[in-house]
Amino acid sequence: MPDSLPQYEVYAIRYARRDARRGDHFIGGDPHDAPMPMDYFTWLVRDANRVVVVDTGFTAEVAAKRKRQYLRCPVESLNLLGVSPDAVEDVILTHLHYDHVGNFHKFAKARFHLQEREMGFTTGPYMKYPRFAHSFEVEDVVGMVRLNFKGRVEMSKGEVAFAPGISLHHTGGHTPGLQVVRVHTQRGWMVLASDASHYYEHIRTNRLFTTAFNLGDMLDAFRTVERLSDSPDHYIPGHDPLVMQLYPAAAPALEGIVVRLDVPPKKL
Ligand SMILES: [Zn+2]
Repeated sequence: MPDSLPQYEVYAIRYARRDARRGDHFIGGDPHDAPMPMDYFTWLVRDANRVVVVDTGFTAEVAAKRKRQYLRCPVESLNLLGVSPDAVEDVILTHLHYDHVGNFHKFAKARFHLQEREMGFTTGPYMKYPRFAHSFEVEDVVGMVRLNFKGRVEMSKGEVAFAPGISLHHTGGHTPGLQVVRVHTQRGWMVLASDASHYYEHIRTNRLFTTAFNLGDMLDAFRTVERLSDSPDHYIPGHDPLVMQLYPAAAPALEGIVVRLDVPPKKL
C-alpha cells in the first residue's frame, strides 16, 4: 500500500567543493582531461514526524588539511532548514570516509546508523595500507568506537527497514560497508546513492571512481541503485555539481546552498 507510506521531503546541502580533472575521477583515466570539479553534500530527509540526517560532512579543520574549499558547516546549515542539530535523533552514515562522518560530534544526542562491515573495515587489518586509510580520519573512526560504547551506534547487516518509507541497502564496493538510502517521496522512490556513484556519469556509463575497494561490487552497486529507484531521475549521486543545477533551491535565500530533491529535476 504505497499510498499509505510517508512522503518525505529530501534536501541536499552543499558544504564544500574542490577543483579536479576528469582523469582524477575514473579508473583508467579519461581521454578528455577537462576540468571536473567535485561538490560535497550532506542530506536531510524529513516529514512532519521524523527528521533524519544522512552523512555529516567534514570540519573546517579537515578541509584546511586536505585542501578542500569549505563553503559552510553542513551541521550548522541544518538550521537554515529549521532543524536544530541538538534535536536530531537519527543520523544515517552511508560510510565512514572523512567527508561523510566528520562533524558527528556536533549532534548532541543522535544515534548513528551504519553497516557493521564498515566499522569492521575501519577498525580492521586493511587500515595499515595507506591506499585505504587515507580516505578516513582516525579520530572519526575512534569517535564512532566511543559512541558505540555509549550505545549511540546502530550497526546493521545488509538491508534494513529503517522507518516507514526509508530503507538502507548495503552495496559495498567503494568501501566494504557502503550503504545507500531509499526514500519514499511525493514523486516516488528515490535513492541517495552517496558514493555508490560519485557522479551521474559513473552509473550511466558503468565507469568506476578511483577510490575503490571491490570493483565488481561497485558495478553491482550501480544495478542496486537503479533497481531501488523509480527512474534514472530518482537517484542522487554523492558528489556531482549537476545536482545543484538540476534541482531547485529550497528557498530563494538558499540558492547555491540547499536544493530540494523530492521534486522532479529540471530539463537541462
Ligand atoms: Zn567515499
